[in-house]
Amino acid sequence: MSHAERDHALLAASAAHRWLVCTPSVRLEEQFPDTTSEYALEGTLAHEIAELKLRKYFLEPMSQRSFSAKLNKLKKHELFQEEMLRHTDTYLDYLKGLALSFSSAPYVAIEKKVDYSAYAPEGFGTCDCIIIHGGDLYITDFKYGKGVPVSAEDNPQMKLYALGAYLEYSFLYPIKTAYLAIVQPRIDNISEWSLPIEELLAWGESIKPIAQKAFNGEGEFVPGDHCRFCRAKALCRARAEHYTALEDFKGMKPPLISNEEVGQILEKAIALEAWVKELKEYALAEALKGEEIPGWKAVEGRSVRNYVDIDKAFEHLKQNGIDEAMLYERVPLTVAKLEKALGKKEFRSLLEEPGLVEKQPGKPTLVPASDKRPAIQTAPEAAEDFR
Ligand code: SF4
Repeated sequence: MSHAERDHALLAASAAHRWLVCTPSVRLEEQFPDTTSEYALEGTLAHEIAELKLRKYFLEPMSQRSFSAKLNKLKKHELFQEEMLRHTDTYLDYLKGLALSFSSAPYVAIEKKVDYSAYAPEGFGTCDCIIIHGGDLYITDFKYGKGVPVSAEDNPQMKLYALGAYLEYSFLYPIKTAYLAIVQPRIDNISEWSLPIEELLAWGESIKPIAQKAFNGEGEFVPGDHCRFCRAKALCRARAEHYTALEDFKGMKPPLISNEEVGQILEKAIALEAWVKELKEYALAEALKGEEIPGWKAVEGRSVRNYVDIDKAFEHLKQNGIDEAMLYERVPLTVAKLEKALGKKEFRSLLEEPGLVEKQPGKPTLVPASDKRPAIQTAPEAAEDFR
């Protein structure tokens, strides 16, 4: 998303995957506070660093001194991490590569507010980067999240941005094709997709009545994966009924369930697990506010002992004859942490190339069939090896 989707549209592009499916969700969400997570704040900071780098490269030649002063200010932010510099470079390099691939300088806009209200009432959003060259419109979104890789293919958020950008620039440029890209450097994900403008416009037309319904708060509640980011997710009745529909299985006839039924139950149960976790968080917050959740109460969890002042405590121990070696453990960094500390290049030349690290096959885990990893091919008699 263009991070906190600076000053919100009701039909935010980043939530389009939800309101296009569950149209009444945006109005239902209005009853719940719009809290900002630490991850979102971290994303905002990474975007600010990226914006500064992009501005310096594409738009406003600035002296190294003025650039450093601005960057240092951002570095003072409590959520700043060194790796933000590397990841914003990956994003900048991607855009540099794109701009340099053209025969002449392209048009570039950074953090550009676009209006797609012609398709979704009052809809607007901020594009991280728009590049136009000839008939080609490039919309690039920088995502700092590292949860799941986000694909640009058929992505409604990206298509809404592209529609907004098209409306803004089609008077000036003969735009024929929209190129959509998501750069998500923390998980090495760069996803690209393109579509002819006629298709984009046809899609825009097709969503108009759906967006209108969403804006009016009309239509059916449709639960699904998209509920995860809905502010109504804990208390939504449609979602609750969807999960409690596990009772359907009660009526099953044979005394043992089949593998097919195991698959169906697991599919529901995994989503159910996430929902139960959200319900618990909600109930705890309510109990702490003094509200009653019948059958439940909040208690103090296991307490943890802490040093009041670790320096003082260790000094005191040493003065009382305790050997310093007893106070510390020397723990080697894990391979992943070392790779992060050394950087990929050095890690490869110092450890990978001389064969000093190896990759052990991971423990078999059960995942949904939609997972990208190939299934382990096991002959039935060899299955024992994995037990
Ligand atoms: S929780 Fe899911 S079903 Fe309920 S309103 Fe939100 S998106 Fe729709």
